[in-house]
Amino acid sequence: MEKIIDEILKYEQDSSVLEPKKEDRIEMIQKIINYTETFLESNPELPAFRSFHPDHLDDLNKPFLETPGDIDEIISDLGNSMDYSGINPASGKHLGYIPGGGIFTSSLADYWADITNRYAGVFYANPGAVKIENQIIRWLVELAGYGKNAWGSLLSGGSNANLSAIVTAREEKLKSLSDYENAVIYLTSQTHHCVNKAIKIAGLHHANIRYIKIDERYRMIPQNLKSQIEKDLSLGLKPFMIVGSVGTTDTGAIDPVNELLEIAHEYEAWFHIDAAYGGFFLLTDILDEFKPGINGSDSIVMDPHKSLFLPYGLGILLVNDGEALKRTFSLSANYLQDATEMEDEISPADVSPELTKHFRGLRMWLPLKLHGISPFKAALFEKHLLAKYFNEKVSQLSDFEVGPEPDLSVVLFRFNDPSIDSNKFNELLLRKIHEDGTIFVSSTTIDNTFWIRAAILVFRTHKNTIDLFLNLLGEFCSQIKNNYLQEENES
Ligand SMILES: *Cc1c(COP(=O)(O)O)cnc(C)c1O
Repeated sequence: MEKIIDEILKYEQDSSVLEPKKEDRIEMIQKIINYTETFLESNPELPAFRSFHPDHLDDLNKPFLETPGDIDEIISDLGNSMDYSGINPASGKHLGYIPGGGIFTSSLADYWADITNRYAGVFYANPGAVKIENQIIRWLVELAGYGKNAWGSLLSGGSNANLSAIVTAREEKLKSLSDYENAVIYLTSQTHHCVNKAIKIAGLHHANIRYIKIDERYRMIPQNLKSQIEKDLSLGLKPFMIVGSVGTTDTGAIDPVNELLEIAHEYEAWFHIDAAYGGFFLLTDILDEFKPGINGSDSIVMDPHKSLFLPYGLGILLVNDGEALKRTFSLSANYLQDATEMEDEISPADVSPELTKHFRGLRMWLPLKLHGISPFKAALFEKHLLAKYFNEKVSQLSDFEVGPEPDLSVVLFRFNDPSIDSNKFNELLLRKIHEDGTIFVSSTTIDNTFWIRAAILVFRTHKNTIDLFLNLLGEFCSQIKNNYLQEENES
């Protein structure tokens, strides 16, 4: 016994650094704050993109040791390597893919949630944490215009939320082996690839996937959907799920969800909306004409880490028939028997694949409480109008063409001089933008046409960023043109 006690006390001593003393905690916090404050203060001057060179990661090659590391050295290594190359998503000059941003007050909530480590999976374990997450769900149910039986789930991002939606649809609609074999899912070429991934993970990769034709604004054509469904029915297949997008990733297009909803009703298909990007524009009046389709949909995904400007790590699924969500994800176990006795609030674990999870609701709840809702609305209106402004301005640059008037906040544009290979020119232009790094944008190819796209969604992106980008575009184009002429003369 004596020996065991000695050993226990030795191990207690050896592991005691896992609970730093107050002075040490304050010192560590101060050092991290010094770093993050320097970062935030210099952020407006930092490039949005630095291309990667293996040297940049040298400081991260140091192995884990048995012995403690030095915090100053660690902070400096992270700053010089992790925070050096690649995209800077916290930059207002990040206009690539679908950006997010990462508002400051969310980080405080994450800090709080991590320190107190509240268990937000089960009501019994922390009624307050679950109530906070459920308050968010109730608010969003109202925002989506869903019915009083609707419910939702706070997940790690849009991909997991789309996956949970598709699993719910599968459980509700596919009841037999032949249903699985005959299931048909309707998408467009513009549907986010995470939906295809989800179909695969959900075991539906043998389902028939139909890519419905899109119009010149990249929106699904309802008439084509309808005739495809009729064709599938005549083949004895089972039209099972229609996926509409409210804000596609490529172009920010909004599918005609009102018409799609009617078709879904007519053929009793599950109507899912992927609004991972566009969802929070519901806070404005920009989506008003699409509300009937959104309100009546069976499920919808929206990402607070995109259009609510939160740091990465939160995607929401809402399901209009909340019972469907419970039927899909609720299972219990003997070791949870104490938890089942209290049911004042729905437990997140009963409506999601997760049990133990990050208390991710607080990072959305705290900013909404601290700032109120109106600054978020203002930021969304600002991004939408900046996209229109940029679209207009870039179309006035000589030899530039733009895509459709932006539905939300993505602008497609390209240099188009008929005398040259425009795809090649735009690839060179994009390369030039990336080499410069001040602004970051990404590109896409639609029907063999190479487009550069500017997605304006970081809360730190303002008019000065857009004006700067317009200037840079003009500059880069004349440089590339000169090189072109030189090459032509030499050959
Ligand atoms: C970003 C995005 C997704 C994927 O969401 P993640 O949060 O990146 O997993 C799905 N659909 C659309 C339309 C998106 O823009």
